[in-house]
Amino acid sequence: MLAADLVDAVPGPKYAALGRAAGQRILAVDRHGKFLRMPLERVGTTGATGAARDELIVHLGMTGVISTTPPTSHLRVRLSLDGPAPNTLYFRDVRRFGRVLVAVGGDLAGLPTLLNAGPDALSAAFTPGSFARALGRSRMAVKTALMSQRPVAGVGNIYADEALWRVRLHPLRRADRLERPQVEALHDAIRDVLEASIEAQGTTLYDYRTVNGEVGAYLERLAVYGRTGRPCPRCGEAVVRIVVGARGTHLCPRCQPRPRGRRAAAGPRASPPAKGSSRP
Ligand SMILES: [Zn+2]
Repeated sequence: MLAADLVDAVPGPKYAALGRAAGQRILAVDRHGKFLRMPLERVGTTGATGAARDELIVHLGMTGVISTTPPTSHLRVRLSLDGPAPNTLYFRDVRRFGRVLVAVGGDLAGLPTLLNAGPDALSAAFTPGSFARALGRSRMAVKTALMSQRPVAGVGNIYADEALWRVRLHPLRRADRLERPQVEALHDAIRDVLEASIEAQGTTLYDYRTVNGEVGAYLERLAVYGRTGRPCPRCGEAVVRIVVGARGTHLCPRCQPRPRGRRAAAGPRASPPAKGSSRP
């Protein structure tokens, strides 16, 4: 790599220490959850000193795209590489939720989501057993636990809603009170939803496009996410939207009955308390 340059972006934590990338070599490109991790090595220092390696980290956020063709707008970071053309990577990000930064010495303190992340959802380390243990430590609503990325990394808002719908679990079910068969079903549903989405080139919302500039086809296959008021594909009941942990959350009130008593997560409720409600 020759350099990483900030273009149309304000310097700050989202683009921390990019100047350090200059003169370093990318050793590998790994993905963990929604983060791309690229360990760096200063050219000419192979095997030298015990200094911890820097790491280039990319998170696309909602609208980030990396391409080899320069975008006409919203270019945030340009990565200049050695080697034959195309040797420049462009990070375009309309909404600026994305990040491209150097973790100095591999220190992830500025990235708590990555630091505390569980196993990647598509890795062999994500097993029903690991998932059950992680959920068993959380008293949060299962949706909130998933969004924390701690039980499993890589499940975003859309896929959390879709996976919970598949296994008929209300998002406010308390994570540590799920039964083992439910945890196993949720584990499988997360894998299935992510794999189906990857196959369909993802779900594109708003301004986002795939790397080839196309609209991801998974959008049309969503069962509940973004389908408020439209019929549940399984039972026909109207999909409802609630807020769980500050995130818009979609569910079928018939397939995913609201939990009561010890099965419900404590803390602020998404909607008025069930007390006095006529909902079954
Ligand atoms: Zn339904």
